[in-house]
Amino acid sequence: MALREILRYPEPLLKQKSVPVTEFNDELKQLADDMVETMYDAPGVGLAAPQIGALQRLIILDCSAKDEPDDLLVAVNPEIIAAEGDSLEEEGCLSVPGYWANVKRRATATLRYQDTDGNFCEREADGLLAIGMQHEIDHLEGVLFVDRLSPLKRSIFRKKSVSYTHLTLPTICS
Ligand code: ZN
Repeated sequence: MALREILRYPEPLLKQKSVPVTEFNDELKQLADDMVETMYDAPGVGLAAPQIGALQRLIILDCSAKDEPDDLLVAVNPEIIAAEGDSLEEEGCLSVPGYWANVKRRATATLRYQDTDGNFCEREADGLLAIGMQHEIDHLEGVLFVDRLSPLKRSIFRKKSVSYTHLTLPTICS
């Protein structure tokens, strides 16, 4: 396993669409392992492969509370096949450090995905995990949570980000 660098806005790779995974080999398992190590080290609750520069449809999530056992979800070719209700919760992103905003999402989600051996699985979720699934799948489409804000909030974000992209921020994934 190896820690990988997390790409940050406005890195152009984060705007690209990821391609489906077709080979369930050791390389895929290595990528997933690196993502797991990088996410827990950050620390974060979710990570998508393009955030470490791999344009493949692979996401990981662990939205368990601190006092609960780990609940790691590694999802290859993830797809939301059902969703209900509305939610408005504050989100952040390891690729947009130092910025949080409320984002409209669906409140519950059913995820269909493959594990790293290619077996099809389904997982129903609500709360933080449902939101995380939608946030991470957005990354596979080249969409960041800041792209989902109202035009006013987005322009405020752009003004702020102009100042912070010129700063040398301490790396959170040394
Ligand atoms: Zn993110």
